[in-house]
Amino acid sequence: MISDALLERIKEKLKGQRKISFLVGAGLSAESGIPTFRGKDGFWVSGSKNYQPEEIGTKAMFDVNAHAVWEWFLFRISMMRDSQPNAGHRALVEMQDLLGDRYALISQNVDGLHFKAGSDENCLFLIHGDLRYMRCSEECSKQLYPIPAEVADQERTRSTKLTFEELQLLVCPKCGEMARPHVLWFDEYYNQSYYRLHDVLRIAKETGLLFVVGTSGATNLPRAIVNNTLARQGIVVDINPNSNYFSEKLSSKKNGFWIQGKSGVVLPRVVEIMKEHL
Ligand code: NAD
Repeated sequence: MISDALLERIKEKLKGQRKISFLVGAGLSAESGIPTFRGKDGFWVSGSKNYQPEEIGTKAMFDVNAHAVWEWFLFRISMMRDSQPNAGHRALVEMQDLLGDRYALISQNVDGLHFKAGSDENCLFLIHGDLRYMRCSEECSKQLYPIPAEVADQERTRSTKLTFEELQLLVCPKCGEMARPHVLWFDEYYNQSYYRLHDVLRIAKETGLLFVVGTSGATNLPRAIVNNTLARQGIVVDINPNSNYFSEKLSSKKNGFWIQGKSGVVLPRVVEIMKEHL
C-alpha cells in the first residue's frame, strides 16, 4: 500500500520539526455513510427540477428560494445526525495525540464527525463551515448560533417540507432576519473570520508533510494549500481510491505521492508508521 520510497520520505519528515498536516474532504466521511457531493446521491429535487449541489448550495439560490435551500441542508443534517465516525476519523485523533502541536487538521467537511471522534478544536480548521451552526443571512454580526434542536433534531426525508413553526426558529436572534446555514456556498469567497483562510495558508507553508484525504480538489483553497506546501519543499501525499485532480498533479512532482486506497484503511496504517518512527 505504501511504497518503500514513500516510507523513507515519511520517516525523514517525521524526524524533522515541521508540521504534519491533513487536508480532508467528503471522501473521509463516505465510509460513515455520508454521500460525497460528486457521488451519485449528491443531487436535490425541488418542485419539478433536479439540482446539483453547485446550484442549490449558493447564495443566489438562497436569495430566491431560502426554504428549498434550508430543506436540503436540514435533510443533510438529519442524515449526518445518526452517522458515526469511522476508522479514518479515529486515526486522525490518534495522530493528533501523537504529534501534539506539530499536527493540524484542515477539513472541508461540515458533518461534525471530527467532533464526535474527539478532534481538538484548537488544531481543527473548518474551511467550509460547520453545519451545527447558522448565522444571520444579512450579516448583522459575525455571531454563530446553534441551529435550534427543535429544527435540527427532526427526522427528514428528501421530501420533508419546513413547517411554519420551524421557519419562525430559523431567524437571526439579534435582528430577526432569516438565518442561513454556516457553510461556504459555491458562489462565495473564503475569508479569515468564518473559514480561517489566512491561518490555513500559513499552516500549509509550515508543513513538511501534508496528507490530502478524500477530496476531489474542485475548490481553490485546497489547491492553494497543496501549492504552498510544495513550494517550500514539503511532501504531499494524496490518499484516495480514485484518481483525482491531486493524484494527477502530484504524479509529476518529485515531492508528490498517491496512495490509492480508502481513508479508513490507509490512515490507520499511517498511525502505525508514526508509532514506529516518531
Ligand atoms: P467531493 O465529493 O468532490 O470528492 C470526494 C472525493 O473522495 C473523491 O475524490 C472520491 O474519489 C473520494 N473518496 C470516496 N470515497 C473515499 C474513501 N473511502 N476514502 C478516501 N477518499 C474517498 O468532495 P470534496 O472534495 O470534499 O468537495 C465537496 C464539497 O462538499 C466540500 O466543499 C465539502 O465541504 C462539501 N461536502 C461535505 C460533506 C461532509 O461534510 N461529509 C459531504 C459532501 C460534501
